[in-house]
Amino acid sequence: MSLIAQIIVNIPARSINKMFSYQIPEPLGNVGVGWRVLVPFGNRRLEGFIVEIIDAESSGLKSIIDILDEGPWFDQHMLTMARWISEHYLCSLAEAMRLFIPGKSGVKSKVLYRTAQWDDPNQAEAYLGKVSPSARLLYESILQQGAVSRTQLEKQFGPQTAKLVQQCLRHQLIRLDYATSQVMRPKLKTVIELAVPAETVEARLQASARYPAQCRLLTALLTKSQLGPDEVRNLGIGHDTVKRLVASGLVTTRQIQIRRDSYAGRRHCPADIVLTTEQKKVLADIIPYINKKQGQSFLLHGITGSGKTQVYIEAVAAVRQAQRQAIVLVPEIALTGQIISRFKARFGDDVVVMHSKLSVGERFDSWQRLRRQQAGIVIGARSAIFSPVVRLGIIIIDEEHEFTYKQEESPRYHTHQIALARAALEDAVVIFGSATPAVETYYHALRQEHKLLTLTARVDNALLPEVTVVDMREELRLGRRSVLSLPLQELLTQTVARREQAVILLNRRGYATFILCRECGHVIRCSHCAASLVYHHAGNLLRCHYCQVTQNVPNVCPKCGSHYIRYFGTGTQKVEEEMAKLFPAARIVRMDQDTTGGKMAHDTIMDDFARGKYDILLGTQMVAKGHDVKNVTAVGILSADAVLNLPDFRSAERTFSLLTQAAGRAGRGNKPGRVVVQAYNPEHYAVLAGLRQDYGLFYQEEIKNRQELNYPPFCRLVKIIVQDKNERKTRQTAERAAADLRGLLGGSHPGEVIGPFTAPVAKINDLYRVIILVKTTNLRAVRDSIRKLDWLNAKEILIDIDPLTTM
Ligand code: ADP
Ligand code: ZN
Ligand code: ZN
Repeated sequence: MSLIAQIIVNIPARSINKMFSYQIPEPLGNVGVGWRVLVPFGNRRLEGFIVEIIDAESSGLKSIIDILDEGPWFDQHMLTMARWISEHYLCSLAEAMRLFIPGKSGVKSKVLYRTAQWDDPNQAEAYLGKVSPSARLLYESILQQGAVSRTQLEKQFGPQTAKLVQQCLRHQLIRLDYATSQVMRPKLKTVIELAVPAETVEARLQASARYPAQCRLLTALLTKSQLGPDEVRNLGIGHDTVKRLVASGLVTTRQIQIRRDSYAGRRHCPADIVLTTEQKKVLADIIPYINKKQGQSFLLHGITGSGKTQVYIEAVAAVRQAQRQAIVLVPEIALTGQIISRFKARFGDDVVVMHSKLSVGERFDSWQRLRRQQAGIVIGARSAIFSPVVRLGIIIIDEEHEFTYKQEESPRYHTHQIALARAALEDAVVIFGSATPAVETYYHALRQEHKLLTLTARVDNALLPEVTVVDMREELRLGRRSVLSLPLQELLTQTVARREQAVILLNRRGYATFILCRECGHVIRCSHCAASLVYHHAGNLLRCHYCQVTQNVPNVCPKCGSHYIRYFGTGTQKVEEEMAKLFPAARIVRMDQDTTGGKMAHDTIMDDFARGKYDILLGTQMVAKGHDVKNVTAVGILSADAVLNLPDFRSAERTFSLLTQAAGRAGRGNKPGRVVVQAYNPEHYAVLAGLRQDYGLFYQEEIKNRQELNYPPFCRLVKIIVQDKNERKTRQTAERAAADLRGLLGGSHPGEVIGPFTAPVAKINDLYRVIILVKTTNLRAVRDSIRKLDWLNAKEILIDIDPLTTM
């Protein structure tokens, strides 16, 4: 009998949803549940996660090759969450565990050994006293070589290598590093410090005026305890000088870790704010739960500009006071520069920012800081919900209604559900915040599942903007064919004349340019998807918005050879051109996916606009969100209701929230705002309620419809997508799956099976798509049934629990 590790190997395949047993070799005896290790798998070496240790017969088992961290990566909570995710979303445990590591593919190759970094140089000596002389030799060898592989060490130290390595690791003398993922290595710099008391230096300075460079360095060190390489260079001091001073014993050098922080040095705004009565009242409801360490979820419903962000900041301050940590989630990190600046202004370096454009190295650094509690607040997009904070006190989900909180690839999790589950494990508070809560969230709040908190007034009682709706059918009848209606043109003229700023929102749905043959009517389509290609001015290309394939614009119609091919539809580019003609004096900037490719391009445009470099900001959805520019007094929304035509139960909600959010951009300062909304269905309740920014009105109508048609929150949905290269086979598989489901869910089971029906986009990436929808009031039962089906893990089948859309 010996110790066996049950390991989940990091391969994403849903079909390999099981544990593998490996022997734990004697030198790695200290590993336990939650550790990441390197294991042989087939003829490869892969990363594995230990999820269980058992005492059993081990003959014939392969051994773990090595450990990948100095301690367990997954703590109990993380493991529990991973199991919960795999159960709830019907994915493999490996898929769920991958959510918790930076750079999903993990570590594939060998480990390097390095010496540990000490803040106090004497520390190493103290620890060295506790290890055997051979272990000391091993430590010194690593110290000399910088980074050493296991093989190199084995050449030097033979069979006892493993034991010596473990001794050094246990006494924190050395640490592990990964040879393949170089980016995950902490970045180091050498700093110089005094090695003797200041008085000694002062005495020495008086004595040695002959060496000006040395004196400059010593003088600098008297005022600043530590100098980095840049500062030394700026003092005009070379390596030789430093070396000589080190040799004389006056200064020492050591390596410290540099944090990789793309946000370092960005502008921060001041924070001298007196809370409003409403803000105080809301906080008085939240803070006791934080102080009592009692789990509770809240919905903070506050109109745009009512000061929700300030409430988040104060709640987080309370959490930090209680020495716990905070996760702050935003829908899209690129759109949320202002929230980050405000948190940074208040909490400084205690904030780490996490987003997909960080290098793996940056993410690794941030995670280490959270894990070691050197940072207490993480701000990020949905994946930050998996951050390794160790003492969770609060999770804030800002703009909770946004669709980006749902992950659209396996595991298809919804951040709300993860947040609630995670908070429940750790007795943490959850705040969902929005001006336009998701209908489901609001419904649950009304049913006391979340405590409902409201902010009804804008800070400083700024007025809601005055909104006008323009019926575009009427415009057309009056013979006006411009994309900008007359009322909007007038508004823009006045705004620019007053030197105020305007935002024009183009609803993405309505603004794409296609290429159409005048001769035969052929529209150029993607050859892999059932969708037209969209013209992009940048690069003069056609792009498929589903599979991202691009191709050049043809000169002749690919179908009939005619030269009469024309652009069709109104792209953002075209709107910009038309505006430039109408307002030749205005400085116009366009922001859409074509213009925001770079890492900070979006922020740069936003910053420039906020600084008044432009009069009019024009763009798709992304201009509607997050920013708060006081000089914006006019907002125009083009094709406000384009989404209403989508065959989906959430289209009204999307329309309402878009209108409300966009209108909320106007008149945030002390100047009144005006909004012009252009629509084709101005009588629709989502448009009407949006204009009045009346959530209650919208909710009343919407919840009636949802109940009548039996959609969430009155049922849960499970969407099953069958996709295959062969159209007939796709259909057949779907028919069979639907029959299986009807068989299982018939009778006493509460599940209605709808379909199969062809997806609105019938083909994506050469895969035909057929959908089956299950509506149920007992999701658990449905999940348990689906789990029994033998096609559960087939690669043609995608399962989406609580999908965002039925499309
Ligand atoms: P929301 O997040 O609800 O849209 P914000 O928190 O961004 O609202 O607040 C809108 C504006 O009002 C911001 O510029 C913010 O700095 C300011 N603000 C918030 N609370 C206060 C307050 N108590 N006193 C003064 N200004 C405030
Ligand atoms: Zn043609
Ligand atoms: Zn395509």
